[in-house]
Amino acid sequence: MAIERTFSIIKPDAVAKNNIGAIYNRFETAGLKIIASKMIHLSQEQAEGFYAEHSERPFFGALVAFMTSGPIMVQVLEGENAVLAHREILGATNPAEAAEGTIRADFAESIDENAAHGSDSLASAEREVAYFFSAEELCPRTR
Ligand code: UDP
Repeated sequence: MAIERTFSIIKPDAVAKNNIGAIYNRFETAGLKIIASKMIHLSQEQAEGFYAEHSERPFFGALVAFMTSGPIMVQVLEGENAVLAHREILGATNPAEAAEGTIRADFAESIDENAAHGSDSLASAEREVAYFFSAEELCPRTR
């Protein structure tokens, strides 16, 4: 099994509902290690840049407005097959379709406000980690 790194966001809705710790607990219970973490309030430019691939989609404006509506937590998770393992505990984009016991099923209200983000591939993970973290901010475990 490959040890991978993936990128995660706890979105403004879940931060507002005080669910940071509960969601961190899901990561750790799944064997994913948090190796970098910080709270930020995205600017319009940061949110547009992060979701640039969706810029032509009809929901883009609403997505940027939502992602700038309050602070978020961004983290880097490390573990075996971390990209897929994280997507599995995250659940489907639409919480109404997310499997029972997943983060989005348990903490999200709607497809537009769906509690958390997870990179969908190793290539996306590398790009997204670098978008928010410098190499010095990553803290691989030494024990
Ligand atoms: N999104 C939305 N409406 C839609 C589809 C997506 O608001 O109809 C938002 C939602 O927050 C989602 C994000 O756009 O998490 C990125 O969409 P993607 O299809 O990449 O889903 P994800 O990888 O987050 O599951």
